[in-house]
Amino acid sequence: MPDTKILLDESDIPTHWYNVVADMPNKPAPPLGPDGNPVGPDKMLAIFPMSLLEQEMSGERWLPIPEPVREAYTMWRPSPLVRAHRLEALLGTPAKIYYKYEGVSPAGSHKPNTAIPQAWYNQQAGIKRISTETGAGQWGSSMALAGRMFGLEVRVYMVNVSYQQKPFRRSMMHTWGAEVYASPTDMTQAGRDALAKDPNSPGSLGIAISEAVEEAASRADTNYALGSVLNHVCHHQTIIGLEAKKQFDKVGDYPDMVFAACGGGSNFAGAAFPFFADKAAGDKRAQNIRLVAVEPSSCPTLTKGVYTYDYGDASGYTPLMQMYTLGHDFVPPGIHAGGLRYHGDSPLVSQLLHEGLIEAVAVPQLATFEAGVQFAQAEGIIPAPESCHAIRACIDEALRCKATGEPKTLFFNLSGHGHFDMASYDKYFAGELEDYVYPEEAIHQALGHLPKFG
Ligand SMILES: *Cc1c(COP(=O)(O)O)cnc(C)c1O
Repeated sequence: MPDTKILLDESDIPTHWYNVVADMPNKPAPPLGPDGNPVGPDKMLAIFPMSLLEQEMSGERWLPIPEPVREAYTMWRPSPLVRAHRLEALLGTPAKIYYKYEGVSPAGSHKPNTAIPQAWYNQQAGIKRISTETGAGQWGSSMALAGRMFGLEVRVYMVNVSYQQKPFRRSMMHTWGAEVYASPTDMTQAGRDALAKDPNSPGSLGIAISEAVEEAASRADTNYALGSVLNHVCHHQTIIGLEAKKQFDKVGDYPDMVFAACGGGSNFAGAAFPFFADKAAGDKRAQNIRLVAVEPSSCPTLTKGVYTYDYGDASGYTPLMQMYTLGHDFVPPGIHAGGLRYHGDSPLVSQLLHEGLIEAVAVPQLATFEAGVQFAQAEGIIPAPESCHAIRACIDEALRCKATGEPKTLFFNLSGHGHFDMASYDKYFAGELEDYVYPEEAIHQALGHLPKFG
């Protein structure tokens, strides 16, 4: 019986998150206001606690994980690293495939890794309520859980198309005591504007973020929480890669390539950045490592977007961030990987890609479900549609290894399970899912609305 699951003890949970900024060859471009000047933390204190803003701007390599957060992490961490022997056999590849399984969290994905500390830091700052957005419901349910753990009320603006497609994610949020609304709503100016443009709007993460930010900015007892994109979110997620490295050490292996699905970038950052740390530190094993962000071809931010300053939300409430973007008012097609429907990307991930230090690929919807089913039939776990993107890219590489005979070590982050996405799987089996053509015209139009500043 070969080693399959590589486990750690609770005492192995890392004591610090990793901040990639310390190892970037060029410091990150600062967020800008509409006047083209850098935005200081004072401007963002209306919606974030100082502790998180400090992390947002920190250049420190290691950020201590507060003990109450580490304790909360023990609810499901450390998560297993698994050697996918059965998938390897099914593919007939000489490659070794490992995956880290983040679906063991109560919410079923990697997102509680940052929801927990965000709730804790807000509670410490005396905040009573959190307003936030959610795409597929993964982030909303994670925030609902974290709010419950630290005594905060949570209101979630859920992208309309997901609200309709994923009713049980709603039920989960309700179970943990959060309020959930289909975005765009008529409760905010941003929502009313979006509905005026399109009364049947499927919604988008950009619109839902506008609604949540608007609410947080208008109430002193309420802060905003974002489930991806921002630097502090990327830092918190590095717990994934840091644990994975300890697990690889246990079996004396090390990846040649790392794959992770990329929506706003924090999942990729979490899995990949700790390996970037090794490379920066001169670790010989990491010198040729390839870090691959995998995105949907219908929302190809990293592979077809423009690297420039843009807003993080549809209405332009957020500061301008330098990132790959498809235009802040681009509304992506209603693919089933709702967590990957975002017009922009983490500025840290974007800059590393722009400087050629990481890679990105885009994959079409049907091929991701095909990979997800293949994975489930080999390894048992039914992956979230978002995670299927990483699996697709990893399987493609394993098949290339088969063709060339290269015994590479491949690692991907299995960011979540798909138990609340079975309606999407049903549609796939019924032949009702489509590969959206690249929405060239919509992207072209949205790129025509890029902000002018300075
Ligand atoms: C949200 C989500 C992603 C994408 O995460 P980002 O950090 O926004 O890139 C990937 N997989 C699952 C299961 C998710 O819920």
